[in-house]
Amino acid sequence: MPSTYTGIGVSSGAAAGPVARVHGPVLPQRDGAPVDVETESNRAADALDAVGGELEALAQRAGASGSVLVRQARISRDPSLASIVGQLVSSGRPAPRAAWEGFGAYRDMRAADPMRAVPDRVELDDIRDRVVAKLLGEPAPGIPDPGTPFVLVARDLSPAVTAGLDPQRVLAIVTERGGPTSHTAVLAKALGIPAVVACPGAASLRSGQQVLVDGAAGSVTAEPDAEALGAVSRPGASAAGGPKGPGRTADGRPVTLTAAVGSMSDVADAIEAGAEGVGVFRTEFAFLDRSEPPSVAEQAAAYREVFDAFPGRQVTVRTLDIGADKPASFVRLGDQPNPALGVRGLRVARRHPDLLGDQLTAIASASRGTKAEVRVMAPMVATSAEAAWFAAQAHQAGVNTTGVMVEVPAAALRAADLLRVVDFVSVGSNDLAQYTFATDRADGELSDLLDPWQPAFLDLVATVLRAGAVAGRPVMVCGEAPSDPLLALVLVGLGAAGLSMTPRALADVRMTLARHTIDDCINVAAAAVYADGPSEARARVREALDHP
Ligand code: PEP
Ligand code: MG
Repeated sequence: MPSTYTGIGVSSGAAAGPVARVHGPVLPQRDGAPVDVETESNRAADALDAVGGELEALAQRAGASGSVLVRQARISRDPSLASIVGQLVSSGRPAPRAAWEGFGAYRDMRAADPMRAVPDRVELDDIRDRVVAKLLGEPAPGIPDPGTPFVLVARDLSPAVTAGLDPQRVLAIVTERGGPTSHTAVLAKALGIPAVVACPGAASLRSGQQVLVDGAAGSVTAEPDAEALGAVSRPGASAAGGPKGPGRTADGRPVTLTAAVGSMSDVADAIEAGAEGVGVFRTEFAFLDRSEPPSVAEQAAAYREVFDAFPGRQVTVRTLDIGADKPASFVRLGDQPNPALGVRGLRVARRHPDLLGDQLTAIASASRGTKAEVRVMAPMVATSAEAAWFAAQAHQAGVNTTGVMVEVPAAALRAADLLRVVDFVSVGSNDLAQYTFATDRADGELSDLLDPWQPAFLDLVATVLRAGAVAGRPVMVCGEAPSDPLLALVLVGLGAAGLSMTPRALADVRMTLARHTIDDCINVAAAAVYADGPSEARARVREALDHP
């Protein structure tokens, strides 16, 4: 008998397959019973060698993209690592503890050797966790590799891990925790992987069990029968054969439809979907798992690749948005009691001004000679003083067009002031909802408060759009809100000149806009704003469209 669990569907589409669970790293005990040195030494050496073999096999399967795995396999089999671990065993540590400590000592040794490169901390930690798990008889931590495509089930996934998922292998994602606009949800959507978050029932799913995931309905069915398999919703068919070309309403009002991108595969999807440019280039996604900041040259090369894909189009580069639910290994922000309200986004530059300076230099260098129209914008800006400071840094680095995201209510309320010191503002709907309702966007339990149909949220968006109209500057809305076609009509009715969204949403939004006039949009915007809550707002908008 199938059992169905409910969560929040954050990336539509349906898929069925066997579960593979993500396991966390296991920590070895600090002390243990006295050890038999010879037995423990052999166990440690065997584990290092076995993990080396496993990494080698994974590298072979990964082909051209397996160079990191090859490097890791070599480290695992490095005799000097085995010798350090062996010495720790000889001094009385059980093999798991010796391996745990040995990797730290090995890194220090490599760092002191001018003839050898210092291994990447993240890569090293990954090998260490595999070796320790093997010695303790636990499953290997991290993304599992059962050898065939699978449904990935986890308590939660970090953005860094989600960004690295291969849609060819991962059929669907189910997490016990997570919110509708968490970065994990954003990334799953961009990768086109059906996903359900905030699904507590996922805790009872076992590796190997067959499940059906419906990312539109937000349901996960264990042991689905033929009837359940036949009833799932299929994504994307509605817009097939819809309009192509630039976004416009039925009566010809242009609405710039741009893509949110974070990787070259997003860029390919954006071009395929006819994006008119990039509304938000989330630069941090490529670098989250680095233990050292990317160099200016490396950044410039990565940005240039994106710019070159959009000749004659606007590419809005968002500077690194690190902190809170997007921790990056290369920026240590310490323990913050409330990281979403702490040092995050542009605020990181207060502690690490060079990081922003280097990034702006890289953007300026990548934009020289490119045919894309490049502009930069800062995340998590609260005041016009911060915006002015950012603009000055960008100008000094050689980037002329500057803007900021409006993600904090203070910035929305004073958008007119912001527009006096920067060239443009863009609404970041995910964070603006989070900060308006004092609700963590990674928390599925409170998702009703994050609903972008909340009239208070729409009021703040309207405030920003009005400020843009008064200043004569077109304002774009980014984040997840514009990818809901009905809400897109509302945003255009409130005055949005452009909408940015995951490339997969562009076709539906383009088609919905083409079916309605600007007056329809203005009418539905009024209907939504004057509603008492999100359900009433949706119902009023549907009613207004059905009976104009
Ligand atoms: C947003 O907050 O709406 C946004 C586009 O930025 P991010 O989702 O990356 O925080
Ligand atoms: Mg944001």
